[in-house]
Amino acid sequence: MNAPSSPLVDEPAIFATLERAGTADAGAVRAVLAKARELRGLDAPEIAVLMKVSDPELLAELFATARDVKDTIYGRRLVLFAPLYVSNMCANECTYCAFRARNRAVVRRALSQEEIAQEVRILIDQGHKRALLVAGESYPREGFSYVLECVDTIYSVTHGNGEIRRVNVNVAPLTLDEFRALGERKIGTYQLFQETYHHQTYASVHLSGKKRDYDWRVTAMDRAMEAGINDVGIGVLFGLFDWRFEVLALMQHIRHLERRFGVGPHTVSVPRLEPATGSDVALHPPHAVSDIDFRKIVATLRLAVPYTGIIMSTREVANIRRETFALGVSQISAGSRTNPGGYADEERADASQFCLGDHRGLDEVVRDVASLGYIPSFCTGCYRLGRTGADFMALAKPGDIKQHCDPNGLSTFLEYLIDYASPETRAVGERCITEALDSMGAWPRERATQLMGKVKAGERDVLC
Ligand code: SAM
Ligand code: SF4
Repeated sequence: MNAPSSPLVDEPAIFATLERAGTADAGAVRAVLAKARELRGLDAPEIAVLMKVSDPELLAELFATARDVKDTIYGRRLVLFAPLYVSNMCANECTYCAFRARNRAVVRRALSQEEIAQEVRILIDQGHKRALLVAGESYPREGFSYVLECVDTIYSVTHGNGEIRRVNVNVAPLTLDEFRALGERKIGTYQLFQETYHHQTYASVHLSGKKRDYDWRVTAMDRAMEAGINDVGIGVLFGLFDWRFEVLALMQHIRHLERRFGVGPHTVSVPRLEPATGSDVALHPPHAVSDIDFRKIVATLRLAVPYTGIIMSTREVANIRRETFALGVSQISAGSRTNPGGYADEERADASQFCLGDHRGLDEVVRDVASLGYIPSFCTGCYRLGRTGADFMALAKPGDIKQHCDPNGLSTFLEYLIDYASPETRAVGERCITEALDSMGAWPRERATQLMGKVKAGERDVLC
């Protein structure tokens, strides 16, 4: 049987590219790395060459190139967010997920708007400014408008000095009209993972429910962008099928969006399968990705799409997270719970989606990140100032975005240190800010100093 192909994902072409890449010689690998340093991205055959690298010396060169590219474009900033699970009710049977419909081991719950407001107050008290709304695919009586109400609720809560300033959303694929309604709520990024781009594997792990429809899912970002949602985030659930195939398929998806809308996704997520209650697949991933291959995935993506954010969740343990910051990650979650109501009720884990690798709270993660020399950023400026989609990329490409992001990153970090940090974290953070200022160019340093002066004087949410 021929491998399936669609306008979006052409499986025979991917397998052919992987086969042609063989094991490239050192010269060919170095030529690809030299091109990657030009920050213009890579094509599929070049990506395939990098993914085949196993020689330790070449691997070290791949990682060093990814570090340099990350540093040139993003500097030392790492943006922080928290997932906010509003419901674990689901009508689909995804064999890897604890929320799957037939799993009786999970206690089902859809939070009321007041319960959501309570979760939001807790996140604000921790210092978060960005939340990622997550839900299974079965909404309470009010249907999809439940999700819209949840977004409204999250934005409506103010508490102490804080509020959630950007709500990103990860829910099942929507119709064009539903996407329009979501866009009107001024969400940040609409995020959806294809899980696996391999048709046969997709069919074998999605046993029933709407999610069985591969095409409905893979075309979701087209509908989102048609509906005017400029920032979309895509991803693969690594472990279901060969990771090299998935990376090239993800690239086909990206190039399709670029061709059609003039801009690709704002972010790419790289979740690896984690153990989940009632799931053998999650416990024994059929194509488990080793730690070294996982680092290769991050480094290769950094070089392939240098201006696209890479998100690292708390599925991974602290050490892996640390290593991938340098290789290309630009956004991380912290202090996460994957059960609805999990921030208010820390004891209840019987409703969680999967097991976490990093259990540390936000304060500890911020301290760790800052002590490694990264700037924890709580900035939400770009999308609120209209710098989204193609506008964001136009600004990002010549490196101009750093002129805004570095000062905004520092001023939001200072807000965090003053309002929420423990004394220990504040001391580490203030040192980090001083070092960051010393290494900045004159203009951004001046802007950062001005913005931080306002924050010290009691102003909040100051942006440039
Ligand atoms: N229900 C919607 C959907 O499936 O798109 C949205 C949210 S779902 C709760 C979020 C993501 O969690 C899924 O897209 C999947 O990639 C991930 N996930 C599910 N089970 C997982 C597991 N065992 N380990 C790691 N990630 C998992
Ligand atoms: Fe439901 Fe999403 Fe889990 Fe599938 S991955 S069972 S759709 S919550």
